[in-house]
Amino acid sequence: MTKPIIGIAANQHYLSNQDFFNQPFTYSPQGFVNGIHQAGGLPLLLPIGSPELAADYIEKIDKLLLPGGQDVSPCLYDQEPRPKLGVTSIERDSFETALIKEAIKQGKPIFAVCRGMQLLNVTLGGTLYQDLSEYEKWQVKHDMYPTPPAFALHTISVKGDSSLAPLLGEKTQVNSYHHQAVNQLAESLVPIAWSEDQVIEAVESREANTRILGVQWHPELTHETDPKEQDLFDFFVQEFE
Ligand code: MN
Repeated sequence: MTKPIIGIAANQHYLSNQDFFNQPFTYSPQGFVNGIHQAGGLPLLLPIGSPELAADYIEKIDKLLLPGGQDVSPCLYDQEPRPKLGVTSIERDSFETALIKEAIKQGKPIFAVCRGMQLLNVTLGGTLYQDLSEYEKWQVKHDMYPTPPAFALHTISVKGDSSLAPLLGEKTQVNSYHHQAVNQLAESLVPIAWSEDQVIEAVESREANTRILGVQWHPELTHETDPKEQDLFDFFVQEFE
């Protein structure tokens, strides 16, 4: 059977030492590569580039995966940067925005993780809290860094008739490494999981013919020790069409 080709939107990393003349490196967190391999897919890295390349890249892949990383540039949802905004990359945002639009246009399924889910929401017309301190009902610790992700941190409730419920049940625990969160949800998305303080922890598409799944936690960090997180990769690679 042909392996589905999963395009992973790559990031750029600058080493902090003098190795290799401080050249940036194009990379993906290894957990995404391993999770897709294990699910029977063929991961393919999509390096940050001109948004004009998005159509050509999306034509080459079967599905798109958007990993976590930098904060989303607030200019994309018409806000000034506030004091608690973290590092952003407008080059990455512009390229991934183009990938999202093109994947939807070409009918290719999208799985978006953490920042990926946030950027997806913004691209479709939603807004974010630049930092959870802007959210009045904030009660749960959502950034467990630098605690390693070996144990899930907080509880989520999953919508019963969503694509996640058969994989996760209606209540489960997930890790959490985010300080930004969805504020206004894009009209074309439906919330399908929430933390106890009602932060949106997962979304899917409202339209049945557009396959979008976004999660606010990091399955790539725990897929080897937590079977339900590998189930997410298996579902995305093998069933989400
Ligand atoms: Mn969380």
